[in-house]
Amino acid sequence: MALPTEFTNALQAAVAPEAILTDEGSCERFSKDYFWYSPWLQEQLADKRADAVVQCRTEQETIDVLRLSYAHRVPIVPRGLGTGNYGQAIPLEGGIILDLRHMNRIVEFVNGGVRVEPGAKLIDIEMAAREQNLELRMYPSTIAMSTIGGFIAGGSCGIGSINHGVLRDRGNVRSLRVVTANEEPQVLELQGKDIDKVLHAYGTNGIITAIDLPLTQRIDWRQLAIGFDSLKEAHDFCWALGRSEGIHKRAIALLEQPLVSFQKPIAALANPDQHAVLTLVDPTDLEEVKLLVAEMGGTISIDVPLYEPGAPIVSDATWNHTTLWAKKINDDYTYLQCAFAPDPRDSWQQLSHMKEKFGDEWLMHVEMVRFMGAVNYWALPVLHYRDREGLQAAIDECKNIGIGISNPHTYILEEGGHDAGNPVQLAFKHESDPLGILNPGKMKLFVSAGISDGPGSSGSDETVGKTIASEQSV
Ligand code: FAD
Repeated sequence: MALPTEFTNALQAAVAPEAILTDEGSCERFSKDYFWYSPWLQEQLADKRADAVVQCRTEQETIDVLRLSYAHRVPIVPRGLGTGNYGQAIPLEGGIILDLRHMNRIVEFVNGGVRVEPGAKLIDIEMAAREQNLELRMYPSTIAMSTIGGFIAGGSCGIGSINHGVLRDRGNVRSLRVVTANEEPQVLELQGKDIDKVLHAYGTNGIITAIDLPLTQRIDWRQLAIGFDSLKEAHDFCWALGRSEGIHKRAIALLEQPLVSFQKPIAALANPDQHAVLTLVDPTDLEEVKLLVAEMGGTISIDVPLYEPGAPIVSDATWNHTTLWAKKINDDYTYLQCAFAPDPRDSWQQLSHMKEKFGDEWLMHVEMVRFMGAVNYWALPVLHYRDREGLQAAIDECKNIGIGISNPHTYILEEGGHDAGNPVQLAFKHESDPLGILNPGKMKLFVSAGISDGPGSSGSDETVGKTIASEQSV
């Protein structure tokens, strides 16, 4: 769409002229995220582009831009640093990208937590927290390059989730300040159950302008890579460590070979003939972990403190970094997001079934998390993408044997996790964005009187692997 002249003129008065970017290169760059992990999203989203990028530095500027966008029916897609995986931050209907990474102040540490602006980078929050003897409860493996606003609106869990659960778990976000897209934008402070209104809603029903995040006590974690000759041994070790409540850990991931060799941060140090379990453990419990490793047939190949200068950051090979490194080796790789049975015997049966059926087309990558109060065996297997049918067959096989899938091959909010949609988010969207100018086309159940045509207006009927309900989506 071409932006209305009255809108662009008024915009110049709302923000500094240099904060409005309209050149082709910027519009293209800011309109992309990591959607290309999915071959299917690549086909659908590669040509989508905003008409301008507006860089807000204050909440007041955000309010002014929202007011103008409402008046002129201009779509707005908020953006942190564009590391989301599902085309979440890609504008489907043109309009403007609201670049929030300059609203990045770490305002204050209070009551064991921190108040921050949405554009603050997670690594900056983690480092500032550590100076206060605190640290993040959880973060994505993109900690070094993504924002807290993007994590809350687009992410779900990560390193720390084996301890603290997922973002959506009550108490992991204390409050959110949100600006709505009404004729006169409202500024709301959401707390308690109201946080669910905008958490992981892809910015479709409000712009987050401040976050109160609880933290946890700093630990000088020890990073380990542990090699195992067989996948079964590695699988069993993950469960044993995961369920050892007396051993404090921040992460447990399993990488099947050859995935380990693909991971640049650790490949040179890990044993190329073994599968690897990567973990961050409390140094207080290190000796106990070493005993467990020895009992279960493992060999430690990396044992370094977290954030030691020159040492690898082991989590750079976990979560969706695992897929990234695999794609650097062969761009035909893609992935799935799976919830295996929350029980060691059943998860092993499922895993061996998938390996028997798909062999090396299915490379196992596990992330242990605490979900609904219990240790869970989640996975982001790396798959060889041959064609749509092959990917669908893998998804169908998962469903057949009870492996839950959060589909990463759709940009539609409801199809990625909540099959039936989240009624709280939908109801809030009707209040907070009645015209549907916020990230239009992503919430398919929303039917507006504004610019978006409602269900699947941007077309997702052919979505690969129409979804299976689960909370996981990273
Ligand atoms: P963006 O991509 O810019 O935005 C994400 C979504 O949030 C978009 O829909 C955007 O419109 C919306 N948004 C952004 N800011 C706001 C705001 N202020 N108000 C309202 N809406 C807003 N995710 C995980 O959960 N866990 C992981 O471990 C993980 N690992 C990853 C590894 C790799 C290599 C990659 C590429 C991605 C990974 N992700 C993971 C996904 C992503 O990196 C994270 O969710 C990240 O925190 C997103 O932050 P961002 O600043 O890049 O957000």
